[in-house]
Amino acid sequence: MTPLMLVDDLMGRGVYLTVAGDALELDAPPNVVTDADVEALRANKQAVVAILRLDAGLSITDADAELLACEEIAPADVPMCDRCGRLCDVQTLAETWHCSHCDPAAAARRERTVRLMERAKSIRCYNQPCNG
Ligand SMILES: [Zn+2]
Repeated sequence: MTPLMLVDDLMGRGVYLTVAGDALELDAPPNVVTDADVEALRANKQAVVAILRLDAGLSITDADAELLACEEIAPADVPMCDRCGRLCDVQTLAETWHCSHCDPAAAARRERTVRLMERAKSIRCYNQPCNG
């Protein structure tokens, strides 16, 4: 799981993550955060802090931006919605597809993710010519 997927997964489960100085703070409903989550946050702390700083509109370092590199999605891989038959138009960072018609909450999560990735990309493009 990448750091972005980790943050996306936690936020999707109602966990509110904030940065206080160099420390990560979690505000979560009871019994949501597992030992494995805590372990993953510890292992990815630098990248998770960078993601949260980016989300808050704060500056991050070039090295942090590199951590946020993401893969592109092949349009042919987009599945149909099981419920309404439309093409799914939302993919979470955990690579689960959703239909925004049947799952409006997923669309909101996607918008946040796209915003983060665009900010990370703009930081990368600042230092080197960008192909996209
Ligand atoms: Zn649907």
